[in-house]
Amino acid sequence: MIYTPEKYSIKDEAMKPFIDPEEILNYLKAEKPSKERVREVIQKSLNKNRLSLEETAVLINTEDPELIKEIKKGAQTLKKNVYGDRIVLFAPLYIGNLCTNNCQYCGFRVTNKDQVRKTLNKEEIVKEVSALQDAGHKRLILVYGEHPKYGPEFIAESVKEVYKVKSGPGEIRRVNVNAAPLSIEGFKIVKESGIGTYQIFQETYHPETYAKVHPAGFKSDFGNRLVALDRAQEALMDDIGIGALFGLYDWKYEVMALLRHVNHFEAVYNIGPHTISFPRIQNASSLNVDDKYFVSDEDFVKLVAILRLAVPYTGMILTAREPAHIRNEVLTYGVSQIDGGTNIQMEGYSEENATKQDLDTEQFEIMDTRSLGEIIKELIATDYLPSFCTACYRLGRTGEHFMEFSVPGFIKRFCGPNAMLTLAEYLEDYADADTKEKGYKAIFRKIDSEDILNKEELLVKIEKVRNGERDLYF
Ligand code: SAM
Ligand code: SF4
Repeated sequence: MIYTPEKYSIKDEAMKPFIDPEEILNYLKAEKPSKERVREVIQKSLNKNRLSLEETAVLINTEDPELIKEIKKGAQTLKKNVYGDRIVLFAPLYIGNLCTNNCQYCGFRVTNKDQVRKTLNKEEIVKEVSALQDAGHKRLILVYGEHPKYGPEFIAESVKEVYKVKSGPGEIRRVNVNAAPLSIEGFKIVKESGIGTYQIFQETYHPETYAKVHPAGFKSDFGNRLVALDRAQEALMDDIGIGALFGLYDWKYEVMALLRHVNHFEAVYNIGPHTISFPRIQNASSLNVDDKYFVSDEDFVKLVAILRLAVPYTGMILTAREPAHIRNEVLTYGVSQIDGGTNIQMEGYSEENATKQDLDTEQFEIMDTRSLGEIIKELIATDYLPSFCTACYRLGRTGEHFMEFSVPGFIKRFCGPNAMLTLAEYLEDYADADTKEKGYKAIFRKIDSEDILNKEELLVKIEKVRNGERDLYF
């Protein structure tokens, strides 16, 4: 057993070892699936059922290019049917890059003496958040290294600082966090600061690989990280995000393990994770990992489509680590959130000359450096509906993802209209004339052609936004 209840103070039920490498590898050893079986599995997902490990392995083990096309097509159909055309936008904000760990893939690792270390003070937070608001952002994820300085009180304090900032018509309405595992008490403190999702990526679910790439520091404890989000649940922080860093071990194994992690939350807490992230390793200062398991573009696209089919109800986050052409392709397979205008340099948003990447002042290299404005323009041109909606979280409709799909008409009544209202705000306050014109055309076209339950009320609210009212939602 890789962890024990006493050690990590979690209720016994959660401690059943839910990641069993042998079990996962056995599923993956199964024979090549028949065409009929692959189609059956895709159909099960299209009927909006979560797939089992065995069924997911069927998709993973599919190598026939025609069937892979069907898997991708299935993911596209599922996305259209379940999620529609909304894409939620956010930006990452690095609060501090001090770190005591030695993750071999990360520019912030303690032994990387080239990294310029920095923790934003209050004034610097205000400057960064103002710059983000001036670009049009409403949702941020704050990112921290793992360091005694970044305890729960510090994290909570920085979250509160971010919420206080108001630049022009701007405000941040949802702050998510990606930081180290905390104690139950610690999670409670951070929850009280009003965060949305707490993200912790397991990086790799393969214990031996994990040990190899995390040779020192708190993070070297595989079990502690694995049950960290169980502690979050104990602290009643039920809005959590999981993820794996693709490229450390076999992608097939990691996809299965992510699904196993989802199953675990559903079985023990009756609610799955809010989001899944699937970052691929990018270049970083002092990167020290074997490229044996690096994931090709082809496999990456396939794995995203499989994840979509495997967990139809979990939000999927795709970041600027990927280049624009991959982002555009993968968006069609059911990604629900992307970052835009991303700059991961410390103080990068407010510094005018920070557009050129410098790996000694950031965690890794990003591949998509488009501004938020450019991304929104492209999303509109390709018939997506950019959204900054934060309504559910603020109205206490928690488990919002669960609601979207379980409450009949939820998307038509809430998500679609709220996406349009937040896009209208963006068009009024931040867009150039061309985007504004095209954005409104897209909104009205969608209102005319789509099945929206509260059309009249929505039109009234949009008119109010055009007349200067803000923060209207259903
Ligand atoms: N220090 C916290 C931790 O490790 O949990 C915060 C996480 S880190 C700032 C955010 C995530 O970036 C990590 O969990 C890891 O998956 C990812 N990451 C680290 N190095 C990376 C690299 N070279 N390329 C892509 N993603 C990377
Ligand atoms: Fe530190 Fe996180 Fe980077 Fe590891 S991934 S070195 S814990 S910042």
